[in-house]
Amino acid sequence: MTTPSTIDTARALLADASHIEVFTGAGMSADSGIATYRDAQTGLWENVDPQDMASIDAWHDDPDTMFAWYLWRAHLARQAEPNAGHVAIARCPKTTVTTQNIDNLHERAGSKEVVHLHGSLFEFRCSLCDEAFGEPIALPTAPVEAITPPSCPVCGGPVRPGVVWFGEALPQDEWNEAERRMSTADALVIVGTSGVVYPAAGLPLMAHAREIPIIEVTPMRTELSHLADVVIEDTAANALPSLLG
Ligand code: ZN
Repeated sequence: MTTPSTIDTARALLADASHIEVFTGAGMSADSGIATYRDAQTGLWENVDPQDMASIDAWHDDPDTMFAWYLWRAHLARQAEPNAGHVAIARCPKTTVTTQNIDNLHERAGSKEVVHLHGSLFEFRCSLCDEAFGEPIALPTAPVEAITPPSCPVCGGPVRPGVVWFGEALPQDEWNEAERRMSTADALVIVGTSGVVYPAAGLPLMAHAREIPIIEVTPMRTELSHLADVVIEDTAANALPSLLG
């Protein structure tokens, strides 16, 4: 349980900050009932290993199955709602967000400055020439086995989900912006990330090296907890309205 004094101590550390960077991971969306890989594995997808759905090699082998799987996950993400934590971040005018999540719950809560380090379920691009694909893509409302991806209007290549797969580099512009924020923010709030997925997990180290206040919100201590001045052992939806409100 979070004691009032823990929250008060954390609030005091943020009081003088004019720019608070909020760094979020899967725990941020957990309170929204966002479907994880595991939750998506019902019925049709029961025997699918998510690891098999997250590499460029798998894409080359069977793009239609992978496209159907990612559109289904986008559908599940769209069904989830931003939780009180997303809303608290969006309402606090001092915050910008760097997230490892591929859902769009921060944006739907109203946050404007969101960096997506691992891409987005709602963005698509050409798998050959990288051109962004701007046309609307209909999401299935029931799982289907295969959906043929649209063709790139520039080169005709298959359009792929705009998410980062295993072994792929993080998007350069997003990474640069995340680094810039870690180098300039007055305080850092880490929410719901295990701190084990690199290179993203290295970003809080940059903030820590500058000795700015760091608050962590997590139900259980993580690999990043030793960097934090205050660890609020609670969920995002419970803790963030008190911390940022
Ligand atoms: Zn193309």
